[in-house]
Amino acid sequence: MGLAMRRPVVAGNWKMHGSRAANETLLADLVERLNPDWQTDVVVFPPYVYLADAVRTLEGGDVGGGAQDVCAEPMGAFTGQVAAAMLKDIGCRYVITGHSERRRLYHEDEVLVARKFGAAQKVGLIPVLCVGETLEEREAGRTEAVVARQLDAVLAMNGIACLAQAILAYEPVWAIGTGRNASPQQAQAVHEYLRRRIAAQDAKLASRVRVLYGGSVKASNAAELFSMPDVDGGLVGGASLSADEFVQICAAAAARH
Ligand code: PEP
Repeated sequence: MGLAMRRPVVAGNWKMHGSRAANETLLADLVERLNPDWQTDVVVFPPYVYLADAVRTLEGGDVGGGAQDVCAEPMGAFTGQVAAAMLKDIGCRYVITGHSERRRLYHEDEVLVARKFGAAQKVGLIPVLCVGETLEEREAGRTEAVVARQLDAVLAMNGIACLAQAILAYEPVWAIGTGRNASPQQAQAVHEYLRRRIAAQDAKLASRVRVLYGGSVKASNAAELFSMPDVDGGLVGGASLSADEFVQICAAAAARH
């Protein structure tokens, strides 16, 4: 399948950053500077407490809003958690599942990630499933085994067809927030592997699913990364907090289309 057939996605994961004032400025800058003619899906993931405000601000426009996490349970006595239906209720369209910070710092295992993915899809949210290896795993030659295990856990629980309404993100843990991005060739190799693994079950889905690269994406490296045939855009952390950087990254993704 040619590059042009998958619409690129640029997703901005704000993590635990921002304030009402800073978010207002950032969103206003983004809305003003993103070109509506760019054939790219753009999504921002503010912290929960600011999400409803952000979604309201973005309503009717081209930028989508998403949550950084979701509870696997549908409702009930789960203090501090947020249900998928609540996210849907406020107009949120996407949710990140399995981010490495949640896997590592909050001990989310593959089964929990798969359940969160399923909970999101059940209410019509689009999960962005993150997979990726640590430096130690890469150096031990285990990259493919690790991302395969992370992907397979989700497919085993939710079925291969779940990928029709989902986005994948390859995020090598050693590249997140370190300033050290994977080379375009390293990213391409893993993206291609993921697509091949999916194709073994469903070739059509494999050619359609969008696979983003995440890990120190910046304005200065985005075009090179996005020029790879299986890299369909980026999941961007630090650089998504600067309208200037983020808009340039979106422009690089649009140029790929
Ligand atoms: C991320 O948090 O998903 C990420 C890729 O972060 P950064 O761009 O800062 O490396």
